[in-house]
Amino acid sequence: MLGDFLAKLIPLDLFAGLGVTGGYLFRRKETVQYPEHRLEPTDRFRGMFGYDLERCIDCYLCARACPIDIIYIRDHTEVEEVDGKKKKKKVIDRYDIDVKRCMFCGLCEEACPTEPKSIWLTTKSYEGAAYERNEQLYFDKERLMSWDGFLAFPGVVTPAEGQAPGDLKGEKRSESVDEAEAS
Ligand code: SF4
Ligand code: SF4
Repeated sequence: MLGDFLAKLIPLDLFAGLGVTGGYLFRRKETVQYPEHRLEPTDRFRGMFGYDLERCIDCYLCARACPIDIIYIRDHTEVEEVDGKKKKKKVIDRYDIDVKRCMFCGLCEEACPTEPKSIWLTTKSYEGAAYERNEQLYFDKERLMSWDGFLAFPGVVTPAEGQAPGDLKGEKRSESVDEAEAS
């Protein structure tokens, strides 16, 4: 009886709530002042695609592995003469990914037989927000390499600039170019 009366006079619940709020005042702040600062995703994060047209052997395995059929490849065959012999060569006309529909399962990368992979999911870059999604989030082979309209994570270079799977900053490729120039 007396307890109920005192509880009505002294707002104990209010103090309990203020105690929780006060506790958070002294904790480390989790808020990040984006875009001045960016959280760096872990290495297991699956972000934007990288593609290397030079390495791609036009085998279609990535397109067949994609469970939602959003990789579109078209090619034609050319005949070229090498040392007097006619040789057939496949030329990739189109390699597109409808990224807005992608679920980033990584099966395309897994299926790619080249070493290093010709299609890969990078682990840091995620800033592809666009006002218009049908065209802006549909990437053809040029945009998959240049990342035109897509923001790379600080320090990460685009595939066109030398990024490769496991070498997001293009450092290994720069080293091999330096070595080739030195020899
Ligand atoms: S990561 Fe995207 S494009 Fe690749 S297989 Fe999965 S759904 Fe298809
Ligand atoms: S990206 Fe890889 S799996 Fe896809 S067509 Fe090229 S070589 Fe084949």
